[in-house]
Amino acid sequence: MVRSVPIGGGAPVVIQSMTNTRPDNIEGTLVQIRKLTSAGCKIVRIAVPDSQAVESFKKIRNQTDVPLVADIHFDYRLAIAAIEAGADKIRINPGNIGSHDRVKMVVDAARGAGIPIRIGVNSGSLEKSLLQRFGGPTPEALLQSAQGYIATMESMNFRNIILSIKASDVLTTIKACRLLAENTDVPQHIGITESGTIRSGSIRSAVGIGTLLAEGIGDTLRVSLSGDPVEEIYVAKEILKSLELAEGPVVIACPTCGRTQIDVASLATQVEAMVADIEKPIKIAVMGCVVNGPGEARDADIGIAGGKQEGLIFVKGKAAAKVPESELLQTFRSYLDKL
Ligand code: SF4
Repeated sequence: MVRSVPIGGGAPVVIQSMTNTRPDNIEGTLVQIRKLTSAGCKIVRIAVPDSQAVESFKKIRNQTDVPLVADIHFDYRLAIAAIEAGADKIRINPGNIGSHDRVKMVVDAARGAGIPIRIGVNSGSLEKSLLQRFGGPTPEALLQSAQGYIATMESMNFRNIILSIKASDVLTTIKACRLLAENTDVPQHIGITESGTIRSGSIRSAVGIGTLLAEGIGDTLRVSLSGDPVEEIYVAKEILKSLELAEGPVVIACPTCGRTQIDVASLATQVEAMVADIEKPIKIAVMGCVVNGPGEARDADIGIAGGKQEGLIFVKGKAAAKVPESELLQTFRSYLDKL
């Protein structure tokens, strides 16, 4: 459990993200947290790079009920302080936290607070001995590292953990996560690290995360994009909806062709924005022509097909209204609300 959110054990796959505001910008971070959660984010991670950030974390904690994860690197004291400040989970890489004793102090603090620890195994910070033995950050090397940390946690009698194995290389990530799923039953946080800009990163994430989810691997996910983290949530939701792992509106749009009589791209974008907050599992089609559109989108619950300066609203494959282009969106909304 991360505060009120279950992870693993058959619970729905959880979307999470990370704030990118400065640690001392408490108001800005709270605003970003609100934007993330209203877009569908269930757990928010915040970087805690120093003791001042712990103070900010505490203030943020006191002003939101959203499950918060403290992201810690290198300093075990920060991990303990973040737990005391009310973190609902901490994310560490035991390899850079230091000695066995220091890891144990962090584990004991987490145990005392009853919170889980996410162990992050990352291709960029793999143990030197494993890099030498396997000749690089291979999936097998990543698995070995993860298994080592699981064993360390078990030796401390601590099982409230979640594992993430991440590489910026999609195939390595997929193979390593598969190996982890084959060899352990620890819940997995999945994602492609440093995946890129909104366009390339979304595609790489959809391929990597989507492949794993389609195989039943992954209990929580983060789409990592260089940009506004709210975009990460939209992408994550599309990935989950396309695999029927989450409900919500799906907007399909035709690719357009020589028969197109309306600006499909702009219309589809406006429809997408219109339904962003709806949770109903409805399929919406935006099609470029009335000749083929309604037929091609027969399985859509509702749709728009473009005509010459006018448009057709169709519901369950049947024409419902023909209206001038200027009234199209408004009329579409009124039919949508009746569904
Ligand atoms: Fe072309 Fe009409 Fe099909 Fe769109 S729906 S691709 S405009 S035939």
